[in-house]
Amino acid sequence: MVRKISAHTIYPVSSSPIENGVIVMDENGKIIAIDNLENHDKTEIEFFDGVIVPGFINAHCHLELSHLNGVAQTGTGLIDFISQVIKNRNHSPEIIQEAIGREEKNMIDCGIVAVGDISNTTDTFAQKRKENLFYYTFVEYFDLFQESNTDNILQQYDAVFNALTETSKNQKSKVPHAPYSVSRKLFEMLKQVQHDGTVSIHNQETPPENELFLNKTGDFISFYERIGFDTKDIPKLEKPSVYYALEYLQKENRNLFVHNTLSTKEDIKSAHQKLGKENVFWATCPNANLYIENNLPNYKSFLETNAQVCIGTDSLTSNWQLNILEEMKTILKYQSYLDFETVLQWATINGARALGFADVLGSIEIGKTPGLVLIENMENGKLTNQATSKKIF
Ligand SMILES: [Zn+2]
Repeated sequence: MVRKISAHTIYPVSSSPIENGVIVMDENGKIIAIDNLENHDKTEIEFFDGVIVPGFINAHCHLELSHLNGVAQTGTGLIDFISQVIKNRNHSPEIIQEAIGREEKNMIDCGIVAVGDISNTTDTFAQKRKENLFYYTFVEYFDLFQESNTDNILQQYDAVFNALTETSKNQKSKVPHAPYSVSRKLFEMLKQVQHDGTVSIHNQETPPENELFLNKTGDFISFYERIGFDTKDIPKLEKPSVYYALEYLQKENRNLFVHNTLSTKEDIKSAHQKLGKENVFWATCPNANLYIENNLPNYKSFLETNAQVCIGTDSLTSNWQLNILEEMKTILKYQSYLDFETVLQWATINGARALGFADVLGSIEIGKTPGLVLIENMENGKLTNQATSKKIF
């Protein structure tokens, strides 16, 4: 059964917005045609009051932390935040599973079709096997610079990695957590097993992270001392943290840097130079940045370097909801030199490219199955505070 869907404006993302357009698709949501409304019998058209965009891509999430909403205080900075989350991680399997199912459903309802999801445990795998969404699972490794323990860490997370079977909707890779938590030994071992996939890494999220690598001083050093961990294997690079990761990341992969709150134009250019611009993606999670650090990236640096930006929600420990439209609203509210169409590209096709799903998702194009999302309550092409998104297919 063919469906014909129309709205005031359609944003295919891969081409200019269309007024009075119609999307023709088959019963599986595959786009058959994008056409002018006047070529179709009005009685066959389902008309929606708002704008239609392709399904959103959530490029960075930790679905397994969904039961921890509200446990961390806002505005404390990253190190206090991490300590609060670790302290509160123990809950019954029932509570964890209930929260994972509930939040996946919330993501689907508000128009998300694919998720780049961090896993430290197997908690989300039962849900992911249902294939309600596309998932790229990043099994995340960190040894906190304790190289005597790196082999154990590898075994521990390899067991998590092996528990998820890869399918076209369930992709996976082994990834380093962040420059401030991964030793040279672990980076090197991960490098040996990463080929032709997406590799994500948390990057330049908080001032102490850069300070750690610039001077080997600051709050991360105090953090390691407080938990009784040796800091001798932390390299002093005299450069910001991203350069440590760049020593080990590879052109053969899609490289997804996450947060980048403190990344400068020079940092971005260096990553482009080392890895090839087309292989580098910059995920921004603005609401999480405001939640934890009360700070946002300077998006001008990404525009001026032609960087491929995508959008994530991070987890419910550091956000009020897992909703890409809410992230777009925040970006456009605080850096209003950006426009809706630019940020929509970040929220759709760029995320799809970053996760390797762009052949089916990310834009309304013939042959793709992108999912369709209705945004209501926009005003003159702008997102208002009242705007909402919902999945229509
Ligand atoms: Zn994260």
